[in-house]
Amino acid sequence: MKDPNNTRDVGPRVGTPLWLYFVSTTAAGCVLLVVSLVWLGAERLQAFGAEPLVWVLLCMVVIGELRPIAAQHVTGGDGTPTSLPFAFALVIYYGLPVAGLVQAVASLVAGVARGHAPHRTAFNVAQYTLSFGVADAAVQLVYPRTPQVPWVPEGVGLLLVALAGAAYFATNLVLVECAVAMHERAPLHKVLMKDISQRLFVAGVLLSLSPLVVVAMAHSVWLVPLFFFPLAALHSSASLSVKREHQANHDELTGLANRKLLILRTQEALSEAQVRKQRVGLLLLDLDRFKEVNDTLGHPTGDRLLQTVAHRLTHSVRPGDLVARLGGDEFAVLLPQIRDAASAREVAARLRVALAEPMRLDGMDFDLEASVGIALYPNHAPDFELLLQRADVAMYVAKERRTGVELYAPHKDRNSTARLSLFSELRRALIENELEMFYQPIVGLADHRVVAVEALVRWRHRSRGILPPEEFVPMVEQSYLMRSFTHEVIEQTLPQIARWWGEGIRVPVAINLSARELLDPTLPEIVAAGLRRHRLEPGALRLEISERVMVSEAESIAPTILALSDLGVSLALDDFGTGYFTLARLGGLPVEEIKVDESFVRRVAESPDGRMIVGSAVDLMGTLGLRATAEGVESAADAENMRSLGCYAAQGRYFTPPLDAGAVTGWLLEQGGLGTQSTERTGSTG
Ligand code: C2E
Ligand code: MG
Ligand code: MG
Repeated sequence: MKDPNNTRDVGPRVGTPLWLYFVSTTAAGCVLLVVSLVWLGAERLQAFGAEPLVWVLLCMVVIGELRPIAAQHVTGGDGTPTSLPFAFALVIYYGLPVAGLVQAVASLVAGVARGHAPHRTAFNVAQYTLSFGVADAAVQLVYPRTPQVPWVPEGVGLLLVALAGAAYFATNLVLVECAVAMHERAPLHKVLMKDISQRLFVAGVLLSLSPLVVVAMAHSVWLVPLFFFPLAALHSSASLSVKREHQANHDELTGLANRKLLILRTQEALSEAQVRKQRVGLLLLDLDRFKEVNDTLGHPTGDRLLQTVAHRLTHSVRPGDLVARLGGDEFAVLLPQIRDAASAREVAARLRVALAEPMRLDGMDFDLEASVGIALYPNHAPDFELLLQRADVAMYVAKERRTGVELYAPHKDRNSTARLSLFSELRRALIENELEMFYQPIVGLADHRVVAVEALVRWRHRSRGILPPEEFVPMVEQSYLMRSFTHEVIEQTLPQIARWWGEGIRVPVAINLSARELLDPTLPEIVAAGLRRHRLEPGALRLEISERVMVSEAESIAPTILALSDLGVSLALDDFGTGYFTLARLGGLPVEEIKVDESFVRRVAESPDGRMIVGSAVDLMGTLGLRATAEGVESAADAENMRSLGCYAAQGRYFTPPLDAGAVTGWLLEQGGLGTQSTERTGSTG
C-alpha cells in the first residue's frame, strides 16, 4: 500500500469499503489463477515443471520482484518491479496459466523476503493474475492459441503485443490505484493521473523488453539470464535518481518530508480543496524544552529523541496526511482534508498525547511536551506561506500561554491585514538582502572613549526608504521568518566585527535579540558557529536582551541565556526601566551590563524626582556589580546628568546617531587611537 509517511502495513479494517475491495479483488484474482491452472490440467503443468526454461524465468522473475524501479514522485509503494519483462514474456509465450503461476510464486517469495503482511502479498498475486489475464485475453481474442504451442510474435504480432501491454498496464494501474485512493481518501482520477507519464515510461521500457525476452526464450534458454545485466543497470540508475530525489525532499535525520515537499503537497491539497470546497489544515508543532535534552545528554541522544518523535507523529495521523520536519524541533502536519476546526484540534490533541507518553532513552525517561498551532484553509489563509505563518502565530500563542494547542485567531495576531503585504515584502527583503545593519558607538562618560558599538538593523525598502526596526521586527517575531532574520543579522554583523578587530578597532559589538529568538534552542549553536567561522573571540560579541523579555519569558529563555553566556559572550539587559523588572530577579543570570532606557534619561532631565529614582536604580546596579549604560543621550546635559548618576557609558545622538558600516568606521577612526580601545573623543558630534 502506498502511504506518504511510509510507516504502516496494517490491513484495512474489516467491513470498510477498502476491506471489501481488498477481499473481492484478492478472491477474483485467486479464482482466476486456480481456474486457469485447472484448465491447463495437472499433466501439462507437470510438463512445464520439467522445462528448464520455466525455472530460469522463475529465477529472473523472483530477482526482478526484489528489485523494483520506484517511480520518482511516488512515495511509498514498491514501484514497477524489474520482473515485468520476464513475467510478461511468459504471458506472450505460454499464456496466463504459466505466467500467473510463476508470478504468484515470485510474489510470495518476494513478500516473505521483504516482510510484507500476508494480505498485501495476496493482493499482489491477485492483481498480477487479473492484469495478466486481461492481457492474455486481448491476445486470445485476435490470435487464439494454446499453451503447448509457444507464441513468438513477429510483424503485426508485435502490434498485438503492444495492445496486450497496454491492457496489462491499464488494468494493473486501476486495480492498484483504486486501493490507494480508498486508503488515502483521495479522488481516484487524481491518484490515477499522479506521475502518470513517468509510470507509463517505466512500464513502457520494461514491457518493450518482453518481445526480446521471448525471442531469447525461443532461441536458447541460456540467453535469458543475459537480460540481467541491462536490467541491473537500469535498476541502479533509476534507484540512484530516486534516492537523490528522496534526499531533496526529505529530512535526513528523521526521514520525514522536508519543507520543500510540504510546500508541494500543501499546494496540491489547496488546489484540490478549492475545487471540492473543502478545508485544509496545517499544524505547526514545536517541542517544549527540547534543548534541555540536547544539552544534558548530547546531540546523539537529542537526534534519537527527534527520530522517536517523528515515528510517533507519523503513527498518529491518517493515511494521506503528511508529517514534515521544518528544522530543529519544529514539525508540521498537513491535513489535506479536514472537516472543521474541532477535527483539527482533535488531531493536534492526538499528536500531543502520542508525544506525552514517556520516552526511554539511555535508561532515562523523558516527558516531552509540544505546543501546536493550527491554521485552516480557507478560514485563515489562502496560500501556503500565510497558512504556515498563521499556524506559527497560533503555535507561538500556545507556547506563550502554555495552552498546548491554539487555533489561529486574528485578534491574537499582532499582524493586521494591512501589514500582510509588508510581510510578503519582508520575505522578499530577506531573500534579496535588503536588511542592513547600522551601528551606534557607545562612549565612556568619564574619558569619552568608545567602549562598545551596538548593531541596529534597518530595512532599505525599495520605495519607502530606510525603515526602523519597530516597523518590521515585531512582524518577524511573529513569523517563521525569525530564523532567517537572526541568521541575516548575525551573518552581517560578525564579518563586520572581524573586519574592525582586524583593523585594530577592538571593541565589543552588541547584537539585539528578541524574545522569539531567545526561545529558539538552536541559537547558542548558531552564535558559536558564527564566532568560529569568523575566528572571533567571544569577548568581541555582546548580546542585548530587552527587559520586557526578561519579565515575560524569564523561565523559558533562561537555558538559552545560560548557554550563550557559557560561550563567553557578554550579556546586557536592554531597555531597563520600560517593564516592571526588578534587578533582584536577575538571580543567577550572567548579565554584566544594564542599559538604562531612554525614557529614564528623559525623566532625569525633567524632574528631581526622576533624578532620584534613576539615581538609586543605578546605585543598586553598582552594588550588584553591574555596569550601567545610558541610552538616548541627546545633549551634553544628558551626558553629564547620567555620568553624575553613576552611568559609566552612554549612546545617543549627542555622540552620533546609528550609521551605516562605512560611515561608522570613518567615525571610529576619526575618534583616533586606532589599535587600542582608547579612542579619545575629539570635537563635538551631534
Ligand atoms: P534598543 O536596543 O534599545 O536600541 C536603541 C534605540 O535607540 C535604537 O533605535 C537607536 O536608534 C535609538 N537611539 C539612538 N540614539 C538615540 C537618541 O539620541 N535618542 C533616542 N530617543 N533614541 C536614540 P532603533 O535602531 O530604532 O531600534 C529600536 C529597537 O529595535 C532596539 O532598541 C532593539 O530593541 C530593536 N532592534 C534593533 N536592531 C535589532 C536587531 O538586529 N534584532 C532585534 N531582534 N531587535 C533589534
Ligand atoms: Mg539594544
Ligand atoms: Mg534599549
